[in-house]
Formats: sequence, structure tokens, C-alpha cells
Amino acid sequence: MPGLAPGIRAAQQPDSAQSLEWMRVDGPGEPGHDGRIAWDSHVAAYQGVRRMNPYLDEDLVALADQARRFAVDRVAPGFQERDRTRTLDRALMKEMGAMGFIAPELPEAYGGLGMGCLAAGVICEEIARADLSMSYVNLLASLNAQILSHHGKPEVVEPWLTKLVAGEALVAIALTEPRGGSDAANLRLKVERDGDHYILNGEKTSISAADQADVTVVFGRTGTPESGAHGVTALLVPMDLPGVTRSRFDCHGQRAIGRGSIFFENVRVPVSHRLGDENKGFVQVMQGFDFSRALIGLQVLGVARVALEETWAYVAERKAFGQPISAFQGVSHPLADYDTQVEAARLLCLQALWLKDRGLPHSAEAAMCKWWGPKLAYDVVHQCLLSHGHGGYDRGLMEQRLRDVLGFQLGDGTAQIMKTIIARTRAGRAAVPA
Ligand SMILES: Cc1cc2nc3c(=O)[nH]c(=O)nc-3n(C[C@H](O)[C@H](O)[C@H](O)COP(=O)(O)OP(=O)(O)OC[C@H]3O[C@@H](n4cnc5c(N)ncnc54)[C@H](O)[C@@H]3O)c2cc1C
Repeated sequence: MPGLAPGIRAAQQPDSAQSLEWMRVDGPGEPGHDGRIAWDSHVAAYQGVRRMNPYLDEDLVALADQARRFAVDRVAPGFQERDRTRTLDRALMKEMGAMGFIAPELPEAYGGLGMGCLAAGVICEEIARADLSMSYVNLLASLNAQILSHHGKPEVVEPWLTKLVAGEALVAIALTEPRGGSDAANLRLKVERDGDHYILNGEKTSISAADQADVTVVFGRTGTPESGAHGVTALLVPMDLPGVTRSRFDCHGQRAIGRGSIFFENVRVPVSHRLGDENKGFVQVMQGFDFSRALIGLQVLGVARVALEETWAYVAERKAFGQPISAFQGVSHPLADYDTQVEAARLLCLQALWLKDRGLPHSAEAAMCKWWGPKLAYDVVHQCLLSHGHGGYDRGLMEQRLRDVLGFQLGDGTAQIMKTIIARTRAGRAAVPA
């Protein structure tokens, strides 16, 4: 199989009977089991099989393999340390950029790989397996680079896009305000025109990477308060402009990327930094969220998958009442249930990106990824933590994963809002007004 990565090649057993025999002999607890190395090779081969599906061609699987190696070698070692220190590793960001892992869907003119949105998906998934917070770099870059490249003036956005792809700049997106996030079209941040500048006054809150971002896509009101979605303008705002101040919250999870408020006091932003048309920020620019919702699904399911892999290995080794605890259906069946659902949810996310890459409608699918993925991932990691007994409750990988994935049940829109989007797509906006 020329071109395939080693993990994939290892999975190509001559026929299924031989493959099963190989698994039987090497599985932990079986006669002939020779310890961790054999189990690891079994897992690697299994993962190779798992990654092959109709959405991912050889190039994408090879990209995912590369991203997995980088994530294991470079991202995973600092997972807990970054949570403790609450800082994103800028040097690591640059390494990701140098590897081509940031916004690979962008055209080569901006430093991207021109590989499509599925490429962004497989990378997000692999980086998130090692550290969900770190994969925010990929998520924010892909979401915002799409907005910038479609709606920005080339002379303004190109230097930023080049830096984002290289991992030399971090971009945030600011929609939520203290008065609420779900009713996003009702936002109030004041944006007034003054010659060739806009003047911004107000607060954005609960913004990921608020105090670490170099530049932010900000949505504000240029129309009357009653203009709703039709009076919102999007602007690209460098965070070093006079009048911008920022705060940092003490978050439950995702602590390396963090969240906070951004305050604007008479901040002058050149009109050239507008994204899309005046008053059209919401209707034009918001469409980018269908992309991030599918990516978020893959991120959190990546975390769920790695938690399941570790837990399957653990329950096969850990003994109680003279048997591996996996022998008890109370232990293994919940894991089997969740394993099934993670497989299905992952395919849904890939399907959404596959539709996007073909320019086909995918808003309902993206909303499905966004409500199901984070809820499922939380339940999966919770079950995995319990399967580890008291050890799972210690500060460690599993409890950090649980804290990390919870954030995405809120960030980028709650399950209720996602289900409203699905309902509207199916029944029509008139039938589902709010
Ligand atoms: C980890 C994390 C990261 C985030 N990152 C960002 C970011 O980068 N940028 C950004 O702009 N925002 C960000 N947010 C904010 C996030 O988008 C909002 O928290 C979210 O949209 C919900 O808004 P809210 O918190 O104001 O809740 P509210 O809108 O006040 O809603 C409260 C509750 O009421 C429910 N509800 C509201 N309206 C309805 C309705 N019509 N039908 C049914 N239920 C309803 C909601 O589902 C929710 O459960 C982030 C939040 C978190 C937790």
C-alpha cells in the first residue's frame, strides 16, 4: 500500500480470520500476551483501521498520522503544566504553524495547504487528543481565517492571515456580551462612524483567549437597537489599539487558552478593517460558525476517544474479584455503548465537513455536531473517570479532560440553540421563530 502511514499498513491483515487470531493472541489477559508493547501495537493497528473511512483519503490519513505524532511528542507533554500556569505555549504554536497544521484549508497564497476543511478537522482532532486548549489555536485560526479571507480587504487581512497560519499570531472572536450570548443578534456594543474610522464603546465577555489574542473579530451595532441581525457590523480589531483593555476569568477548564472580557473605550478602528458590509456582519459573517461547529465536534470527540482508549486498556489490566474488571458487564457495556456513539458522532462531523468542502448545505449537520459532540464527550470522559476508580478522581489527565470538554457545551452556542437551528432547517424559520 504505497503512500500509507505505518499504522495503517500494520492494520492490513491478510484476512479477517487472521486478524482476529492476531488480536486474540496479543490481547491483554490472553495466553501469549506479552505486555504493554504488544497491546500498544494492537491499539495502533486498531486506530489505523478506525481512521480509514469514506471521508478520509490517503492524504488526509497521512496528515492525521503526522499530526498525531506531533501531538504525542510535542503537545501532550505540557498538557497539565499549561493548565496549571494558564498560558498558551507560543513557541509550540509556531511549531504547529511550521508543520502546516494551522488553517490548512487556506490557499497556499496565505501559507495554507489548500487541502480543504476535512484537513482542518483531522488536525483539530489529533491536537485535541493531546490538549483541547492547544487545539483552540487551530479552531480559532480556521474559523477566523475563513471570515477574514472571504470578507476582509486583502491589504488589511493578508498580513494577519500569514501570521495566523505561521502560528505567529492568535486571533479571537468576540460576539457575547454581558447581557447574553444566545440572543446574539441582539448585541449592543456601540460602533459609530467618524470619517474613515469606527469608534467602539462597550464590553465583550466570555471571549476565549481574550487576554492572549493579538487581534479579534468583533461584532458591534451600527444600526438602531431595533435593527436586530440587520444592524450588526464585523470589524477586525488589533488588540494593541489605544482604549482596549482586557481581563481574565478563573475558568473551570480550558485554562491554557482561558476566557475573559474585552473592554472598548473610544477605540478608533479604520473603516478598512470592516469585514463584509456595514450592517451585514451578522448575516454575512456568521455563516462561518457552521465550520467551527463541526471542528468542535471533532475536537471533543478526539478527547473522548483517547479517554476510551486508555480506559479499555486500564479495565483489561485492573483486577477485582479475581478477574479483569472488563469481565464485568457493568464496566465494559457502558464503555461499549459510548464507543459506538463516539464512532457515529465522529462520522457525522466528517460528513458536515465533507458537505462544506463540496459547497453543499450543512448548517443542520454542523449544529448536530455541536450539541451532540460536547454532551457525548462529557458523558464518555465521566464514565472513563469512574472506570478508573479513585485514581480517576485525582488531579490528572482524566479529570482535566472532563473540565476541558464541559466548556464546549456552552462555547459557540448551547445545545438548546443548536437544536433550534436544526428545527428551523427542518421545519422552516416561520414554524420555529425562536
Ligand atoms: C468555554 C467557553 C468559551 C467561549 N468562547 C467564546 C468566544 O470565544 N466568543 C464569544 O463570543 N463567546 C464565547 N463564549 C460565550 C458563549 O458563546 C455563551 O456562553 C453562549 O452563547 C450562551 O450565552 P450565555 O452564557 O449568555 O447564556 P444565555 O444566553 O443567558 O442562556 C442561558 C441559558 O438559557 C438557555 N436559553 C437561552 N435562550 C434560549 C432559547 N431561546 N431556548 C432555549 N433555551 C435558551 C441557554 O441555552 C442557556 O442554557 C464562550 C463560553 C464558554 C463557556
